[in-house]
Amino acid sequence: MRALLPAVLAALWAAPANPPAASYEDLAVDLLQRYLQIDTTVPPGNELKGALFFKDVLEREGIRVEVDEFAPGRANLLATLPGSGRARPLILMNHIDVVPADAARWKVPPFSGLRQDGLVWGRGAEDMKTEAILQLVTLVRARREGLKLDRDLLFLATADEEAGFAGALRALSPEGFRDRLAKAEFLITEGGENIVDESGRPAFFGVATGEKGPFWLKLQTTGTPGHGSRPIADSALNRLVRALDRVREHRTALKVLPAVAKFFRDQAPRAAGARAGWYRDLDAAVADPATARALYDDREVSALLRNTISITVVNAGYKTNVIPGTASAELDVRLLPGEDPQAFLAELRKVIDDPTVEIVPPSDFRQPNASPTDTALFRAVERVLGRHFPGVPVTTTLLAGATESVLFRPLGIAAYGFTPLLTTSEEISTAHGDDERVQEATVRRSTGVFYDVVREIAAMTPGPYFHIGGDEVKTLAPAQYKAFVERVQEIVQSHGKQMIGWDEIAAATLLPTSIVQHWRPDAAHGELARAPHLILSPANRTYLDMKYDQNTALGLSWAGLIPIKTAYDWDPATLVQGAAPAAILGVEAPLWSETIATMRDAEFLALPRLAAIAELGWSPAQPRDWESFRVRLGAQSPRWVALGINFYRAPEVPWK
Ligand SMILES: [Zn+2]
Repeated sequence: MRALLPAVLAALWAAPANPPAASYEDLAVDLLQRYLQIDTTVPPGNELKGALFFKDVLEREGIRVEVDEFAPGRANLLATLPGSGRARPLILMNHIDVVPADAARWKVPPFSGLRQDGLVWGRGAEDMKTEAILQLVTLVRARREGLKLDRDLLFLATADEEAGFAGALRALSPEGFRDRLAKAEFLITEGGENIVDESGRPAFFGVATGEKGPFWLKLQTTGTPGHGSRPIADSALNRLVRALDRVREHRTALKVLPAVAKFFRDQAPRAAGARAGWYRDLDAAVADPATARALYDDREVSALLRNTISITVVNAGYKTNVIPGTASAELDVRLLPGEDPQAFLAELRKVIDDPTVEIVPPSDFRQPNASPTDTALFRAVERVLGRHFPGVPVTTTLLAGATESVLFRPLGIAAYGFTPLLTTSEEISTAHGDDERVQEATVRRSTGVFYDVVREIAAMTPGPYFHIGGDEVKTLAPAQYKAFVERVQEIVQSHGKQMIGWDEIAAATLLPTSIVQHWRPDAAHGELARAPHLILSPANRTYLDMKYDQNTALGLSWAGLIPIKTAYDWDPATLVQGAAPAAILGVEAPLWSETIATMRDAEFLALPRLAAIAELGWSPAQPRDWESFRVRLGAQSPRWVALGINFYRAPEVPWK
């Protein structure tokens, strides 16, 4: 088979009538306002109120919902939109709780959900109630539009993310939803960040693929107390100061993780001077001592390349003339994904080199982790964003702190922080700050973008048909190929879809639902006439990538040259001898893309032949007539010119 998929241009089947996308945008803004009015501040949380809000919306749509109130007023919610089971589930996860808001410092009441001047205000607008609404509306829309899902779509809303992850831990426990969540392949939650410049355009879309692990340590030591007038060389405080100075001087190793390397590569085109080169090949940059020093000393860059240590708290003494008997300090340590905390402790012990200074690790440390970027979900995000925001790169970011994703990755789930929402750097700083708000325009636009991502990954073959190709399998003996097709059509049918295949499948014993797509001018008509259904795409009549004449620069000619009259002047009803008229579904014109680089190329090969094939496919043999058609076709040119279409001015057509 010629390697590329056809861009199918002649419509055979009308798309189902969908409600206009604008109504989902209105729905998103309306639900966001109402959700922001629910106070889910933690502590105490009261996430049950948020869960019941979701439950009401989802159950009205006929979507199955479970609410797990695991402590009074504290609840998780799981909603399930079942798929065919062909692929493992996708989890859309959001946390219901928000951090406290000091109303006295806000311009508007923090739980007003006020909509004004293109902004929607409220605690949670950035972190992360708006993302929750995008997820919610996606579920509603998938349900209303009857999206044929290849995988279950799970909507998981959790409690307590801003405090201790109690909700996510409960959800992953056997008493929660573990059996349903653990089977998932992908998860989308918070952590994505897309900051726009003054022009309103993001420099890049940041998808968080990993996060550093906060590994907060305490140093403590004791010693002999005494009077300040007679110094004690190895007092607790002196030893602590010496230990802290060694920690301060210590340079942790630079390590380039794949996601971080990609992030810098994507920044290289915008970097100035020598940095552009460093960012393009960070491994090489780090290997050079002088460059490594410069990268180390850049605090923004440095934090992405190593385990960091900040000395943040020191406690000792109470009176100037008293040498204290105890001293302690706290270190904010952040470990890179994949780091072993025990190895880091051993490194730090060696650095401090004083057994009397005790290092106390945190009681509930979680190993930091990351997800690969070579996944179907990451590629779906890239494709969809590429369509909606052409030219804006999609890159990987490493978060400085943990999200609930850290709990899901060890189960083999690829978890990403992803959102299509755009923010200014001022708006993003209102998360956990005052006057938290989101732009209504980005909520509206993101509603469709987020839905498209989910559709792309959860409904990979959303239509009722599944095309298996056909002429790739030249190496199989005919009997083997026949058995293969008969087996495959059973599988396709078991997923509720109709199989389509090229001429070659006609040799098999086909199910009444299977469809043969005729392309070879030399195909055996006896076999084709037995096909339950036929799509007609004869290569010498309908392949839009064939040249018009010898002088056409684009296109190929292996099936012949196809001027407009050749494309128009044939009868689909009599092309295949012996085929029952009822078996013929219609005409499809493939445009194979070997010689096509731009939309203008595609337009040139498709028009005007596509118009000829459309008339042929949609109107009866009488009164189809070439002479009348070429005149009517010529009358189309002012419209095509007005639309800026690059069509071929065929000499046999009297163009207006
Ligand atoms: Zn959050």
